[in-house]
Amino acid sequence: MTDRSVAEITGGNGEVRGLVLDNGERLECGIVIIATGVVPNVDPVKDTVIKVNRGIPVNQFFQTNISNIFAAGDVAETFDIPRASGMVNANWPNAHEQGRYAGLCMAGKMVQYPGSLGMNSVSLYHIPIVSLGIFDPESEGIRGVDVKIRANLEQNIYQKLVFKDNRLKGAIFIGDLGYCGAVKDLIKEQSLVGIIKDSILEEKYQLYAFLRKKRQEKMEGKDIEWPETYSSTQRYQKSFNEESWTERERDRRIW
Ligand SMILES: Cc1cc2nc3c(=O)[nH]c(=O)nc-3n(C[C@H](O)[C@H](O)[C@H](O)COP(=O)(O)OP(=O)(O)OC[C@H]3O[C@@H](n4cnc5c(N)ncnc54)[C@H](O)[C@@H]3O)c2cc1C
Repeated sequence: MTDRSVAEITGGNGEVRGLVLDNGERLECGIVIIATGVVPNVDPVKDTVIKVNRGIPVNQFFQTNISNIFAAGDVAETFDIPRASGMVNANWPNAHEQGRYAGLCMAGKMVQYPGSLGMNSVSLYHIPIVSLGIFDPESEGIRGVDVKIRANLEQNIYQKLVFKDNRLKGAIFIGDLGYCGAVKDLIKEQSLVGIIKDSILEEKYQLYAFLRKKRQEKMEGKDIEWPETYSSTQRYQKSFNEESWTERERDRRIW
């Protein structure tokens, strides 16, 4: 239902029973989830020469269309890394990072911002949930993606990775945040990850080896060549053999 808003939530004794819409229509329901987007406040620059789209578009140095006027944070439309297009990614980590870059650029040290990443982290009914980048490509009309899923519904675990052109574009982690941090870095760097496509959710040796090499690249400046793709046709089956559990699983989870 679009173009409708909620006039009233009905219920009693701590329980939701339904909704009354603004046209008087009643709907029964047992749960209400309220979500809203972010609309940047561009009023201060309205009717000025500063260009506005959804937010204020900026280049990699946070310059607006007027080169000595800068914008960063929630109000800025920056380069979205997985989508490779302009986007308002309004959250605190992006705003914080962008403020630092914009400050440096404004002070004359023109450091190039690699781009922003949409991400959300929330806990619902004690279940941690993280989403990163493009996690629902269909809804965005993005084709040619490769999706890997690991799910264990009894344990409220669901993990989804979205790849395109052997690069990670987005992810969802529910119940087990596992390699969420590493996945975020791989999306931000747009590394070629074809070779570990099948090992990320499985947390197999290849993933560890890949991350170790990436660290070497970063820390020791080593230039390591990666084959562009490697894909196994075997479906992943998590092993229930105690010997093969990772430390993390052994500590926290009973399979
Ligand atoms: C309810 C809520 C919950 C959130 N939860 C999370 C969360 O869990 N995790 C997360 O990462 N992010 C969260 N965010 C988003 C996060 O707060 C923002 O992304 C972040 O604060 C953006 O920083 P900013 O400096 O770009 O903008 P703001 O923090 O909005 O700062 C802009 C400042 O500009 C000032 N200002 C506006 N107009 C003018 C003017 N004309 N002249 C002078 N000053 C002006 C405003 O008063 C404000 O102080 C949440 C936001 C809201 C509203």
